Amino acid sequence: MTNDNHQCRFCASPNVSQIIDFGSVGLAGAFLKPDQFAAEKKYDQQLYFCSDCYLLQIINKVPPTVLFKDYFYFSSAIATLRKHFRSYAKEVTEKFLIPKKSSVLEIGCNDGILLKPFVELEVKTVIGVDPSSNVIETIKDPNIIAINDFFTRERALKIREDYGPINMICANNVFAHIEDMHDVTAGIKTLLADDGVFVFEVHYIGSLIDEIQYDMIYHEHLFYYSLLALQNFFKGFDLEVFDVKPVDIHAGSMRYYVRHKDESNDKSVSLNVINLQKREREKGFDKLETFQSYADKVAQTKTDLMALLADLKQEQKSIVGYGASGRANTTIQYCGIDDRHIDYMIDDAPAKHGYYTPGSHLEIKPRSALEENTPDYILIFAWSFFNEIIEKNMAYLKQGVKFIVPLPEVKVFSWQDGQIVEENYSETDDADAKIVSMSEHK
Ligand SMILES: [Zn+2]
Repeated sequence: MTNDNHQCRFCASPNVSQIIDFGSVGLAGAFLKPDQFAAEKKYDQQLYFCSDCYLLQIINKVPPTVLFKDYFYFSSAIATLRKHFRSYAKEVTEKFLIPKKSSVLEIGCNDGILLKPFVELEVKTVIGVDPSSNVIETIKDPNIIAINDFFTRERALKIREDYGPINMICANNVFAHIEDMHDVTAGIKTLLADDGVFVFEVHYIGSLIDEIQYDMIYHEHLFYYSLLALQNFFKGFDLEVFDVKPVDIHAGSMRYYVRHKDESNDKSVSLNVINLQKREREKGFDKLETFQSYADKVAQTKTDLMALLADLKQEQKSIVGYGASGRANTTIQYCGIDDRHIDYMIDDAPAKHGYYTPGSHLEIKPRSALEENTPDYILIFAWSFFNEIIEKNMAYLKQGVKFIVPLPEVKVFSWQDGQIVEENYSETDDADAKIVSMSEHK
């Protein structure tokens, strides 16, 4: 199934194969108002695998200026993220830096959530680079040098001129978004001190595959990394991954530690790297077949979900969607869900109220809408927050509203005899309803 028209974004090989075709979709983060429906742009979204360098990637290009025009995500507003980045800064400082003599730079620093702790740890030079003016403007700390720009090789040369080589470069949850990875990585290579460390965190391919998290796939996330793919990529820049650490954030991320590759000394990579490499080979992350069978499982979840929704609509049941995130928009558009299935969407972020979901045009309302217009079913698109959502909506559950989870497999939960039970809705499966404890479902 090699496509002659496409090349791998990393190694330029034509040996790439289509894994999932999402069709032509509205951008997952582009919520809109009714007067914008007619002008809404859609973009082809196809997931490809490269059999030469093992990169799983969205092959289609969307201009970054379109993607990140209205960026209203402020990291520091989220308490778990603040805590995460504080311990991150402490850990890497202790491991690699002499604070008072060191410089740190973060690519895509957002509102400075990681940089503030570096300042507290008395790191001498702290620099943040971010193209979104509205978020970087919120950094008021005079100890942080905030540069409102894209990080490019050219920009890296300028920074090196001004501040010298940098001891530690960080990049968190941005390494999957960057259109021109070659230019950014060349910039890192240029700017990193000889004994410097490049540290980055990014969503790991493992949970995407193991837990069928295909809803993580949208234009804003171009790349889905395995260690194997990253190793192949960094080789081209004389850089190497020397350590890895799984991070339990954003439904499964990995932190990678990278340094200049130096043939003259034989500094060995950590056992973590050797083991992860081995595990990825065992799982077949270097084989096309693995991703083809993944695609089959993804297609099955769509078939199951749409069969359930069709049955419920035939019974005249009303259904509301919960969590209007980018992830929800992938599920909605991939499955072909629209206002024939879902009456409206609920989201807790006031900024989204009154807007409509991209592509499917479902209205987003506050949770209070459930009171006036209580549905028979709530479809939890933000399924990774199942426990939190169920706890918040316990009253509705007890009142008889049923909850649908679309992934990793389609399930229906209801309240029976004082407990949450997983209902059996499948026609072929005649097992009894099973009792679910909140802790076992995550
Ligand atoms: Zn490739």
